[in-house]
Amino acid sequence: MKKNVDINSLKSEFRGQIIQPGDSNYDEARKIWNAMVDCKPALIAQVSCADDVSSAIKFAQANKLDITIRGAGHNIAGNSICNDGLMIDFSNMKKVSVDSNKKIALVEPGATLKDFDAEAQKYGLATPVGINSTTGIAGLTLGGGFGWLTRKYGFTVDNLLSADVVTVDGKKLRASEKENADLFWAIRGGGGNFGVVTQFEFKLYPVGPEILAGLLVFPFKQAKSILQQYRDFIQITPPEFNVWVVMRKAPPLPFLPENVHGKEVVVLAICVVSEFDKNERLIESLRSFGDPVGEHIGNMPYVNWQQAFDPLLTPGARNYWKTHNFIELQDDAIDSMTEYAGKLPSPQCEIFIAYLEGKSNTIPADAMAYPGRDLKYVLNVHGRWDDANQDKECINWARDFFNSSSKFASGGAYVNFMTEEEKDRVAKAYGPNYKRLAQIKKKYDPDNLLRYNQNITPGV
Ligand SMILES: Cc1cc2nc3c(=O)[nH]c(=O)nc-3n(C[C@H](O)[C@H](O)[C@H](O)COP(=O)(O)OP(=O)(O)OC[C@H]3O[C@@H](n4cnc5c(N)ncnc54)[C@H](O)[C@@H]3O)c2cc1C
Repeated sequence: MKKNVDINSLKSEFRGQIIQPGDSNYDEARKIWNAMVDCKPALIAQVSCADDVSSAIKFAQANKLDITIRGAGHNIAGNSICNDGLMIDFSNMKKVSVDSNKKIALVEPGATLKDFDAEAQKYGLATPVGINSTTGIAGLTLGGGFGWLTRKYGFTVDNLLSADVVTVDGKKLRASEKENADLFWAIRGGGGNFGVVTQFEFKLYPVGPEILAGLLVFPFKQAKSILQQYRDFIQITPPEFNVWVVMRKAPPLPFLPENVHGKEVVVLAICVVSEFDKNERLIESLRSFGDPVGEHIGNMPYVNWQQAFDPLLTPGARNYWKTHNFIELQDDAIDSMTEYAGKLPSPQCEIFIAYLEGKSNTIPADAMAYPGRDLKYVLNVHGRWDDANQDKECINWARDFFNSSSKFASGGAYVNFMTEEEKDRVAKAYGPNYKRLAQIKKKYDPDNLLRYNQNITPGV
């Protein structure tokens, strides 16, 4: 530990586990998803309850340690950890409890999407969350949260009913429409800026247990035409019908001919969440966009589809992401996407476009901190590679593409896809909601103790 602090005062009241440099589990406990981030905290406080969170915050302040908060450690910017700070780690708080009659779930912040989906699906229920099951519910929710159910049921934040929050003064507050409504407004999109959430309460919907989903793969030479047809077609489809586009080098999937493996392809990832018969014919229309080189589509359990992309998104790789929001996809934007998808610097880099138009667009932009109610498409420039020698090449590819496509984008951005260096973009990402966020930040965290996040500075 850099500073000479006596951890006995913390140990006496802390019920979870405290991990320090030199402990046998220290290196494992400080690993996060993005291998580009390699920080050594002074203390890892694996909390077991809200009281532990209060104790950890108090201890950090008394010892002038920076505070970071780890849900499942998935965030690309790596803000859940810092050098010489105190990491409040929720790895041991992963409980999910479902009330199937009321259709609500209580979820602890260390739960992954897999934990949440698995429990809710025991009752045929789910709420919109992301598409990679190892992602943490905490960071995902606090930044917005979208996935295959978003067109129909909105963002994850649109389905948050309440949260239990420990604020930097150690108080335990309930945030909901009725209690501490300003805090509830702020945490629905404003990230971990306002306090430490110790439990989320979500609304659930009947989903599955089977859905209709899969991949339809086209040769890259047809990319421009596929994207143009996709853009025109997807806008007239119902909200239970989801198609996202991924441009990448084809992994060696068994349903693809061997001569396609490792070659650039355009993948339509399809997920129909209800009314399968009616939507089968829409899938038929997608096939006619070009000459597919392979497909794998059928009924499958929702939980399986929620894990379908996990093998491509394992922890431990080097990652650098960029993101844009789009209200429309102009031909020039499509040209830029296909140009950069044609020069992917590694087999794991990809460009993905999610179409999210639906429920979210019916909610006013000032209803909560999450502001992107005009958003139709989210673009993620996903730089991913293994060898540190490729850092410069892969980062430059992502940055160049981001810059080249900026002029076609809306100017908004999804904070959960932003990297650390983009701090200047935060105010812009929140647009008109930023001013209120800064005021609420001043009320709940006037000294900006919670600043390892997409930071909102306390307002004047
Ligand atoms: C492979 C991959 C796929 C993804 N797919 C999607 C997707 O489909 N949809 C989508 O919406 N997003 C997606 N994301 C983005 C994801 O939502 C963010 O990375 C999110 O921050 C992850 O949450 P986490 O809890 O794992 O993160 P962490 O890194 O643990 O935390 C991120 C930040 O959240 C805050 N935080 C975490 N826990 C708490 C808490 N208990 N109280 C207060 N603040 C807290 C802190 O500021 C922390 O720095 C994806 C990310 C990756 C890497």
